[in-house]
Formats: sequence, C-alpha cells, structure tokens
Amino acid sequence: MYFACNEHIELAIDMTVDEQESAPIVDKAGTNNDTLSTVCSFCENDAIYRVSP
Ligand SMILES: [Zn+2]
Repeated sequence: MYFACNEHIELAIDMTVDEQESAPIVDKAGTNNDTLSTVCSFCENDAIYRVSP
C-alpha cells in the first residue's frame, strides 16, 4: 500500500500496477483515524490518497 500526495498519485498507481499486475484501489487518505497524519510515500507532503493493491 502506498500513500500519495497530489503530485505522486499517478506514480503510486503505476508502481502498484507494476507490482500487482492489477488495478489498485484508490481512496482518499484521512477518512479514518489511521491515516490522519500520514505523509506521502514519495515525498514529505501530507498524503491525500491511499493506494491499495
Ligand atoms: Zn508526494
């Protein structure tokens, strides 16, 4: 699973597709308590999306 900001959402999707060979599930991050303070997996920005395989 990756977390991504607005800049890196496409990268997160591409990497998940490469790894899983299937389309990922993209949710908004911060919709529950687990992801409130999550940062992007690729930079230091706050994550906006959660990309699940
Ligand atoms: Zn980012």
